[in-house]
Formats: sequence, C-alpha cells, structure tokens
Amino acid sequence: MTIRLKLTLWYSIVIGLTLIAFSIIIYTFLSYSLAQEIDRNLAGRAMGVVRSIKVLDPGLLRSQKIVLPDVDVFGYPNTYLQVVDSNGNVVAKSSNLFNYNFPLSRAALAQSQNGESFYEWLEVGDQRMRIYNYPLVAENRVVGLLQVGQTFAGVQAALGRLRWLLWFISGLMILAAGTIGWWLAKAALKPVEDISKTATVIRQDLNLQQRIDYQGPRDELGQLVETLNSMLDSLEAAYQKLAESHDAQKRFVADVSHELKTPLTTIRGNIDLIRKMGDEHPDIRHEAMDDIASEAERMSRLVLDMLVLARADAGLTLPLKPVVLCDVIQQVARQAKLLAGAIDFKISLAEECQQTVILADPDYLKQLVFILLDNAFKYTTKPGTVELQVKCNQDQVQIEVKDNGMGIEPDELENIFARFYRSDKSRPVGGTGLGLSIAKWIAEQHQATLRVKSILQEGSTFTIMFPVYASNKFKIGGAREST
Ligand code: ADP
Repeated sequence: MTIRLKLTLWYSIVIGLTLIAFSIIIYTFLSYSLAQEIDRNLAGRAMGVVRSIKVLDPGLLRSQKIVLPDVDVFGYPNTYLQVVDSNGNVVAKSSNLFNYNFPLSRAALAQSQNGESFYEWLEVGDQRMRIYNYPLVAENRVVGLLQVGQTFAGVQAALGRLRWLLWFISGLMILAAGTIGWWLAKAALKPVEDISKTATVIRQDLNLQQRIDYQGPRDELGQLVETLNSMLDSLEAAYQKLAESHDAQKRFVADVSHELKTPLTTIRGNIDLIRKMGDEHPDIRHEAMDDIASEAERMSRLVLDMLVLARADAGLTLPLKPVVLCDVIQQVARQAKLLAGAIDFKISLAEECQQTVILADPDYLKQLVFILLDNAFKYTTKPGTVELQVKCNQDQVQIEVKDNGMGIEPDELENIFARFYRSDKSRPVGGTGLGLSIAKWIAEQHQATLRVKSILQEGSTFTIMFPVYASNKFKIGGAREST
C-alpha cells in the first residue's frame, strides 16, 4: 500500500469518525430536547385544564359536583385529552380522539390513585403517543385522572429526515475529504517522488553531478533534499578523488615500469659489454660496473620510496626521540654535497642551533631534508645555487631549502605534495613523484609544517618548521618569513 493511499485512508477515517461522533451527538441531543419539549408541553396543557376545573362539592365526578371544562378548548391538532373517573371510566375526551380512548392499565390507575403524575408511551390506534397522566384531586381525594397525549409521529418523521441528512452529509464529506486528502497527499509527496526519480536517474546513469531540484520551503523535506544533495556533493568529491587516485596509480605504474625498465636495460647492456669486452678492456669493464652500481642504486631508491609509503599507509607511527639538530643537519649536508656537482651549495647553520634538540626519528628527519635538497639540485639548471639554512629560537626550528631553479607553476603548488604527481616540465628529470609526499608524511609525523613558496624561473623555497624539544634559549637571528 502506497504512503499516498495510507495517508488518504487515515485522513478519511479520522474525518469520518469525527463526523459520525458529531452526528450521533446532534441526533441524541435533538431527540432528547424534542421529547423534553413534548413532555413540557403536555404538562402545561394539563395544568391549563386543571386550572379550569370547578369543584362545587367534593364527591364523585358522576355526582356533577365537579364541573369539567370543555376539553376541546385545550385540544390542539396534535394534542388529545381524556378524563377518566377513579374507576377508570372515561368521563370526557377531546373530539379529535373520535371513537378512540387512551387505554388505561390497572397499574397506571393504581399509580394515579396515589396522587402521582407520570408520563408513559401508549399505542393508540396505529399511533405511538406520549401521554401525561395527571390525577385530579379534590378535598385530598383522587377523584379522577386527566390524560393529555401527543402523537410522536411528527417528531419521529423529523428525526428520521435528520438521520438521513446526517448520513448523507457525512458520506459526502468523507468522499470530499478522501478526494482532497488524495490530492493533498500527492502534492505533499511530490518532492519525495522527485527525489526518488532523481535517485533512479543517478543510479542508472551513474551521474553524480546531478542534484535534486527542490524549490519549496526549508521544511523537513527541504532539509532532506539538502542533506541528500550534500551527500551527493561528498560522493561526487570522493568519487572524483578515487578517479584521480586511480589515474595517479595508473601513471605511477607507468612511471615505475619506465623507471625500472631504464636501469634494467642499462644493467643488462653493461653486463653484455663486460661479457664481450671486459676481459680485454679492464677500463670498459670498470665503467660498466660503475653504471650497474648507480642504476641498481636508483632502483633500490624507488623501491625504498614505495616501501616508506606502504608503511605510512599501514599506519606506521615514527618512534621519536630527542635528537641534536646540528648533528643530523651536518650529516645530511655532507651527503648532499656529493650530489651538488656544478651547483653552488651553501649551508648556513645558525649559531643558536648548536644546542637545539628536537624530538625526531633521525633517519626519517635526514630523509626529509634530503628529499628537499635532492629536488633542489634536480630542478636547478647548472650552475645554480642551492642554500640550506637552519635557524632556531626557543620555540621553533626553521629549516629552509632554497634554490634559484625552474620554479613551480602557481596552480601546481597544491598538487606537488600529492602522491605520484610530477609536473610535465619535470618529466625529463628522473623522479617518481613520491619524494614530496614522503616528505609531507615525515613532517606530519614530527608535528612539523612543510610549506613552499615559488616563483617560476626564479626558484623555490621549501620551509619546515619544527617545535623545539630543548634549547639553550638562544634567540633566532634574522629569521625570514616563509609561506
Ligand atoms: P619527483 O621529484 O620524484 O618528481 P617529488 O614528489 O619530489 O617527486 O616532487 C614532485 C614535483 O614537484 C616534481 O615533479 C616537480 O615538478 C616539483 N618540484 C619539487 N621540488 C621542486 C623544486 N625545488 N623546483 C621545482 N619543482 C619542484
């Protein structure tokens, strides 16, 4: 059963029950009031008759000591009067009774002998009548009984018509309520229908860009549409991210196979060369061995990078311990010097940093600085300049790697930390696109921030800010702002 049908049914049932209850109340109240009115009327008429009775001398009615009025004077088209003596014999009656008499039971006669007035229902001819029995008393003796009656047929007919009217109006109202309810439910559920249609289209077409169009107020349905639309936003964003990461993975696989293929080809070529000419030409053998060693090293670097990221993905947290900053920087600088080649590599380690201790994993800290230096050397055309500057104050350590190389396009700046991202310009230079994402993960593990500022063709500056664990409270000298 649809919600629309359910709502309509409930709506009609509630309206129907309300109308039936209302009709019953009206009908009962009206029939009770009418009966009361008849009773009052009968009593009033009886009183009129009684007031007109003249008592000449107490005795039996037959002795003509009591003079009855002309009861016809008190009769109305629907009102009938009858007077009986204490034995139950009819003494007088209104002419509209013709040859009918009000039947009088023994019980009623006995009740009247007690001086009690009472109402009763009687069948007179084919008519049902309401009768008011009023004992006539003279000198403290019941000498007769006055009976005033009225037919109930008129009231019954009116009540019957009212009954039909109430049934008819109730039926009509229920029908109208059902029809209006059906349309109201349709209008109220229209947005739900729209939502379901849009959801079906989204499911069929897998079109996450589609949104539910809702123009109504911000009621419960408005909020539902808003929530669903924002859910679709998130889904679209997540799907897009997934698609991007899938593309990146595909690019990565292509890059990795390319990166692995080149050194493998070089290694194979060099091995062939050694086999063919190595024995006669020791110098050629020597050069080939060097090539093999350097290519093997490149391959192992790539594999190591992938390992680090795999560990990061597996939720590895680095065990940090207090480390003397200077020692680490000097070790990295020594290794980096070997890579500098024709590049002018300057190191500036502020005096204030001599005693500075930070919480770090020394190996990963070295790797972080090394990645930045390696990039600076890679993306700077020779002869360029690369500077490693370290400054400290009592709260923070700032490590800056600055080059005057090719720089990075402004719209690429936010992508370079993403995994596998490599700018088109940097493709001729070897790399995996993993370095900066590893650097970012290491920085996060050290509660450090890693930022970059770059101007195309002028150079780039990467800045890492570490919190200090312990220092000799030296003041930082000439620290530059970084973004
Ligand atoms: P890889 O260097 O192996 O390509 P990275 O993650 O280290 O991967 O760097 C991502 C990209 O960021 C590089 O491909 C390059 O385009 C850009 N990049 C990084 N450092 C520099 C830099 N010092 N100068 C210019 N571009 C850089």
